[in-house]
Amino acid sequence: MSYSSASSLAHQVSPIGVPSRCWCGEDIITYTSKTKDNPYRRFYRCSIALMFGYLILFDVYLRKNENHLFKWVDEALLDEINMVDEKWKRVSEDVDDLRKQMMANMELQNEIFKKIDEEMVKKISENIESELVIIKDNVEELGHVMVRSAFKTAGVAAVIVCSLVWIWGRM
Ligand SMILES: [Zn+2]
Repeated sequence: MSYSSASSLAHQVSPIGVPSRCWCGEDIITYTSKTKDNPYRRFYRCSIALMFGYLILFDVYLRKNENHLFKWVDEALLDEINMVDEKWKRVSEDVDDLRKQMMANMELQNEIFKKIDEEMVKKISENIESELVIIKDNVEELGHVMVRSAFKTAGVAAVIVCSLVWIWGRM
């Protein structure tokens, strides 16, 4: 494949959107059509291609068969609108994905908080139970001490009463 046929294949794909340069590197110029079919319709054209209608240098003439950029302005603008639409669609899809991700994260966080809550409640109730057992033991111990001390007091009182009765009997 020669260079010219390769390049002529390469440029045949019309650029999408508003073109900034021709495939050959030349600037493009906006012109208004004066043909019967497209009166006043504006188009982009490579500046090299526009020279072909005039007295030109031989090396430019050799490029006459090259298919330089031509594009209707309205079609280019329509491309731009479609591209913006496409971009908008992608952005809204991304936003939707992000929202779904955030929801999933929040659900995960809720799960974690719920588990932490349950763990804490379990730990606290275990602690309360063990404290209660200790308090119960202490109360029982206190009860025993009180009973023993009551018996002692009763014993001492009985001794005193007996002594008093004995002393009174001797008087
Ligand atoms: Zn060109």
